[in-house]
Amino acid sequence: MDRVILHSDMNSFYAAVECLYNPEIRDKPVAVGGNPEKRHGIILAKNEKAKKAGVKTGEALWQAMGKCPGLIIVPPNYERYLRYSKLSRQIYNRYSDQVEPYGLDESWVDCTNSVKIHGSGEEIARKISTEIKDELGVTVSIGVSWNKIFAKYGSDYKKPDAITVITRDNY
Ligand SMILES: [Mg+2]
Repeated sequence: MDRVILHSDMNSFYAAVECLYNPEIRDKPVAVGGNPEKRHGIILAKNEKAKKAGVKTGEALWQAMGKCPGLIIVPPNYERYLRYSKLSRQIYNRYSDQVEPYGLDESWVDCTNSVKIHGSGEEIARKISTEIKDELGVTVSIGVSWNKIFAKYGSDYKKPDAITVITRDNY
């Protein structure tokens, strides 16, 4: 029998967490990175609004501010990201004890042994997505497939807040 692997990727993770701590900025373009006073450093993450204005991860703050004059830049708070990363893994653990984190915002969740209890990979993905949204207030993109590579490809294929199932018939 094929394995059932999920890859979950929290969308615009650092920026999403910062918007939880500062709800008044959530409808504005937000980027996390560098030192805004010195206009120094690079963009580590951005929300959808900033992305639409052309802001890119890895570019210099001054470049991003040039493209998007209203851009709100927040310095990174790694303790917050660690906390949310841990909370997300606790949700994955409800469906599998085989959770393999990759960075702070991504994890593979091997659900091969959970489908009998919790339903298909797609159903588990839907439950995880709903629980993360309801309990943590952030969104995820999840890929479901029979191996880790296609599961990761699936989580990348459509975002934010999406589920993509890659089967042997449609890959
Ligand atoms: Mg992510």
